Amino acid sequence: MAVNDDKLKKVIAHAKEYGFIFPSSEIYDGLSATYDYGQNGVELKNNIKQYWWYSMVHLHENIMGLDSAIFMHPTTWKASGHVDAFNDPLIDNKDSKKRYRADVLIEEHIEKIRGKISKEVGKAAKRFGESFDEAQFISTNPRVVKYHEDIKAIELRFKNSMEANDLEEVRQIIIDLEIADPISGTKNWTDVRQFNLMFSTELGSVSGESSKIYLRPETAQGTYVNFLNVMKSGRMKPPFGIGQIGKAFRNEIIARQFIFRMREFEQMEMQFFVPPGEEMKWYEYWKEQRLNWHKALGFNPERYRVHDHVKLAHYANAACDIEFDFPMGFKELEGIHSRTDFDLKQHEEFSKKKLQYFDPEINESYVPYVIETSIGLDRMFLAVISSAFKEETLEDGSSRKVMSIPPALAPYKVAVMPLTKKDGLPEKARAIIDDLKFDFSCQYDEKDTIGKRYRRQDAIGTPYSVTVDHQSLEDNTVTIRDRDTMEQERVAISDLHEIIEKKVSLKSLLQA
Ligand code: ATP
Repeated sequence: MAVNDDKLKKVIAHAKEYGFIFPSSEIYDGLSATYDYGQNGVELKNNIKQYWWYSMVHLHENIMGLDSAIFMHPTTWKASGHVDAFNDPLIDNKDSKKRYRADVLIEEHIEKIRGKISKEVGKAAKRFGESFDEAQFISTNPRVVKYHEDIKAIELRFKNSMEANDLEEVRQIIIDLEIADPISGTKNWTDVRQFNLMFSTELGSVSGESSKIYLRPETAQGTYVNFLNVMKSGRMKPPFGIGQIGKAFRNEIIARQFIFRMREFEQMEMQFFVPPGEEMKWYEYWKEQRLNWHKALGFNPERYRVHDHVKLAHYANAACDIEFDFPMGFKELEGIHSRTDFDLKQHEEFSKKKLQYFDPEINESYVPYVIETSIGLDRMFLAVISSAFKEETLEDGSSRKVMSIPPALAPYKVAVMPLTKKDGLPEKARAIIDDLKFDFSCQYDEKDTIGKRYRRQDAIGTPYSVTVDHQSLEDNTVTIRDRDTMEQERVAISDLHEIIEKKVSLKSLLQA
């Protein structure tokens, strides 16, 4: 735990020092849980968006893009259920005066039990060596079986209490599990209350209930209300999808853990409309596709796990999260939900407009079912930088900080450096950039020793550094240095484009 806390702190400090992420309005001491993306952060963020957009929208001929407004007619949020039910159960500790999400306290308790199971499995694996049968051990070891039963019982009790909106029972679960406040260490809890997560503001100059509008808490509703527009103007028929990337706002009770949970964040969501009865097939399809999208980035596959929901939202008939091993542990990175025809039907009811597809083959209209894939862009950003950040000790005893960002996502693809600031080397370096800059984001750097310049590029994750020296003027060759291996090679300037392209193109990720 302490080690990982330390890792998160290091990632945060590095992200600030190297222009990835700054605390918002820092000169006024910041605004809690709000962050700004700096010069390198915005590049990385745009590249993640591009990877998603290409993979989802451009590579599927039946998926279209959309960019709907953040403000929407207030009835949208009545229909979607957000006005009445987009709540989190909150609980305060009377001693520390800290506020928590009751569901998160319970989930963290379950996570601790899971940790105990992993420990038992680890110990047994060591004891039994090669002959260890993990599945058999898990299903027969009395202690592990009991832990699993405990988890099931807690999950069921929590699910029932939430479904019945029985907040006293939720509190009782926390008391019975003897959950203590991590800060005060006491179990002195208040009642559990529901808290609506939507931000509201007023439209125009008149204030009051009638002009109250909301900042959207998800992009999905903007897609549902445009379902007919896109289907008709795009001449689509189910199965087809609509993808969109945009800001969302939630008044989170506890926003912390850096950019993992913010009050203003960005989502990349895709709604896939299918004929009723086909939703399970497509749910499985998208689950697999989305996992492949993540794994193509080349991080350790063990850092991903799929968590199937036990507590399904009332509108869903299947749902799972792709969880990622963040420095704080495994947490939700992306959600995949089979939302039935709930949203479109709700909007039909509230708008009194038909939101249906007329299928000429069966001569009938129907409300399509929806599979949603929803990923937080900022969480994806955190997954990338926390996996990419490394501190290495080199053979000569020195150390370096390197961001092994997948090359296609790296803020800059190549840095071009003249060995010295004279003898025509800067001009030669600039000429190389002038040739490469239309295809790759390039940096020019002539300050400090070459070693320091390499370190700077390592720290922002630039896959290649090209050094121009006196020989370059004679034979049009340069040295090219690989960020990860640190190996240098002398190559012809005319080959640079091809070498870089091979490593950094988005195509290789998309084809994986
Ligand atoms: P959580 O349980 O962590 O609050 P959620 O289940 O409410 O998340 P969804 O409503 O499914 O999240 O939203 C889809 C995605 O949006 C999430 O998988 C996550 O990546 C991202 N997301 C949600 N809330 C936030 C937030 N406050 N800050 C950053 N990203 C968020």
